[in-house]
Amino acid sequence: MSIINIAIDGPAGAGKSTVAKRIAEIMHLTYVDTGAMYRALGLKAVRNGIDPGDAEAVATMLPDTTVTFIKINGEQHVVLDGEDVNEFIRTEEISHAASVISTLPEVRRKLVDLQREIARSTDTVMDGRDIGTVVLPNTPYKFYVTASAEVRAKRRFVEYQKKGILGDMTYEDVLNEVKARDERDMNREFSPLRPAENAVIIDTSEMSIDEAVDAVIEDID
Ligand code: C5P
Repeated sequence: MSIINIAIDGPAGAGKSTVAKRIAEIMHLTYVDTGAMYRALGLKAVRNGIDPGDAEAVATMLPDTTVTFIKINGEQHVVLDGEDVNEFIRTEEISHAASVISTLPEVRRKLVDLQREIARSTDTVMDGRDIGTVVLPNTPYKFYVTASAEVRAKRRFVEYQKKGILGDMTYEDVLNEVKARDERDMNREFSPLRPAENAVIIDTSEMSIDEAVDAVIEDID
């Protein structure tokens, strides 16, 4: 049987990862969170006092850096240099570091190679920014999950509140960070965020997660 790979791209906070995880469960595929891989490299840079935008310094860090996944209780955890770093990568500081480090071509090359390697031998749902355009351009299953910046910022604000990691951030601060991230992701030189030509666009601004999941599954069937 041939391998199935489903590509799901879109901006931060559009609900991609929730949709991708559900699809993986329903269709018995492996969920690959490529954002977590960029976050792991962002974390390593921050821990080592390296500016994530400093191409030279980051290039010296890359050769002896490994990023893999392990499954714990059914959930994928990202492993950086042998350490499960899942619990450290979801802060605002690391979101920012990941967004900056992901603009570097050396970083993208390394992680895209790893992602293609996983997809070659495993049935996956892979989510990110460049899966349909760069990582898996030949897969017939491409989706672009999006929502307005305001809706995405509101979701993120509520998520931070629930997790107790909001600190003194206001909704406006979260909205500004969402917009800044979009700006960096969409306007970077290498692999900018954009829908693949033949991607199905799913706008979740006024849609539930279940409706978005149904839209993807209907298209695959
Ligand atoms: O998806 P997530 O928000 O966890 O991704 C963190 C950052 O990693 C994003 O802001 C984006 O800049 C970068 N990223 C990327 N390409 C991917 C996945 C994530 O550039 N395929």
